[in-house]
Amino acid sequence: MSSTFHSNARIAKQSLQAAWQDFCLLFPTTASSVEYLYNMAEAEGPIKCQYCNTEGLTRNIGGRSSYCNRCKRSTWFTSRTLLDHVKNPRAWLATIWLLERGLHISSNGLAQVLGISQSTALNMLKKVKLVISYNMEESAVQLPIGHFEKLICKRSKETPAREHPSAEITVIESQSDDPSGHNDTQQEQGKESNHEQNNQNQNDQAHEQLDENQKMVLSFLSKEPIRADRLPALTGLTMPAVLSAITMLQIAGFSEQLIGDRHIMSDKKPERRLPAISAVLISHLAEAVATLKNTVHGCSAKAMQLYLADYWRTACKSAWTDNALLRACIGAGPITDQEILDYVTPPLVLFVPLQKGRL
Ligand SMILES: [Zn+2]
Repeated sequence: MSSTFHSNARIAKQSLQAAWQDFCLLFPTTASSVEYLYNMAEAEGPIKCQYCNTEGLTRNIGGRSSYCNRCKRSTWFTSRTLLDHVKNPRAWLATIWLLERGLHISSNGLAQVLGISQSTALNMLKKVKLVISYNMEESAVQLPIGHFEKLICKRSKETPAREHPSAEITVIESQSDDPSGHNDTQQEQGKESNHEQNNQNQNDQAHEQLDENQKMVLSFLSKEPIRADRLPALTGLTMPAVLSAITMLQIAGFSEQLIGDRHIMSDKKPERRLPAISAVLISHLAEAVATLKNTVHGCSAKAMQLYLADYWRTACKSAWTDNALLRACIGAGPITDQEILDYVTPPLVLFVPLQKGRL
């Protein structure tokens, strides 16, 4: 795994260098980058004065600001976009342009080619990935973050002290119960019963999603272990049907397997149970987890959504080519550094099911 990771990193670095050289030929200067950005922004709709909404502003070639003849004030064409007040427009264009090439880009690699600090590069990458995540809804399914537990190997400021990074999932899930963030005793008690109610609802929902075979097999499971080969006679199902139902019940957290192919009903707390998902979705999910493990080793629960957005970008190259990402960034409003610091992946993450080579 580690050597695959390092050789993948080396290939990624070489392709980044090659793409960067292409970029430099197309956009050798800041002025050429600004001109390109201006044309893209104008193609999205006429640039208006940000003070009086007048169209038809005066602008010098390569300039970032336009002059309003009516109110005599200047408007930056990047204002109210992701590139609002950015210091280095060429670095931003390069970042977006390189990401549109479908490359896997690390903050270190980007920092090196652009000659900027790693923290600035990381910040830019996160902002663009957040924009990508805004655009996931149409093609994505919503899954509880617990399905991606295997990916979590990095701590974040949300990770409970002295616990494994994956413990953060519990923090994220509990935060969703109380968006107000208040916690006086009365509310704590209310929250507690709310939480139980939520768990019960989630559990009912998860049970609803089981198919008839799975429900049938589950009805014969208890705290008393039962061998799988006894289940066909009890349920009237074939052995393969029983085994497939048992696998799904285990994944959804309804049952556990003991030594000797014996099975019991799970005593996992309901909130850790995940709704059953289809075998096809499981394979897409496994592919995403394997790919992200190979390319980035894993991530924190906090940043998970940004990584899943980026997985979509790299796995479905057709979705973000031909200036699509640049248009999305121009269309997106400004994202502040504080918003990036405070960003926490929601308990239900957006995931676009894709397998390499399919799209
Ligand atoms: Zn004006």
